[in-house]
Amino acid sequence: MLSKKKTLELINVIADMFPDAECELNYRNPFDLTIAVLLSAQCTDATVNRVTAALFQKYHTPQDYLNVSVEELMEDIRSIGLYRNKAKNIQALCRILIDDYDGQVPTQHSDLVKLPGVGRKTANVVVSVAFGVPALAVDTHVERVSKRLGICRWKDNVTEVEETLCRQIPIDRWTQTHHQLIFFGRYHCTAKNPKCNVCPLLADCREGRKRKKVIVDAE
Ligand code: SF4
Repeated sequence: MLSKKKTLELINVIADMFPDAECELNYRNPFDLTIAVLLSAQCTDATVNRVTAALFQKYHTPQDYLNVSVEELMEDIRSIGLYRNKAKNIQALCRILIDDYDGQVPTQHSDLVKLPGVGRKTANVVVSVAFGVPALAVDTHVERVSKRLGICRWKDNVTEVEETLCRQIPIDRWTQTHHQLIFFGRYHCTAKNPKCNVCPLLADCREGRKRKKVIVDAE
């Protein structure tokens, strides 16, 4: 794994590439954001935004989601992967928000992770984006980029990746680094065809050097 100094060097280059990175999910308030992040599991933000454009016009409060049958809600989110489970989780989550939190989204990470369909990543996004609490959510992009650059080990699980990043990066940069790593993974160091040839991190990147060697060897 890389030293703290080296990790920050790489993170700073990524920050310069995507200084304005931010959450790309559309939402009006913490409740909408929670629904949107829950829907985004194994689904692109673009697809979620297409669905929530209509969904958020129809449903405004937790009670609104409980006023329809689960089949109707499934139909409303049908173009999103795992829509059956997600519809059930949304209704179960709304029930708890009404019964235990006066219809509001709890601000504590420890409360959020107990909600149906809300894992550690979703809770991190909600507390950081909606409530301004520093957190570094690890999604597929953050995990891939951190491992390719050698900041984390290939064998690390998502929690270990998060722990390493939080140890290596100052707390006041966690939230912004989360967004910047996502943008870097989404638009530059993509899963299938990373732009290694024009990457400012190539000299420091074990994955990039490996890929370049493969390309050179094939020529
Ligand atoms: Fe990603 Fe390639 Fe850059 Fe490494 S060199 S960070 S694999 S784009």
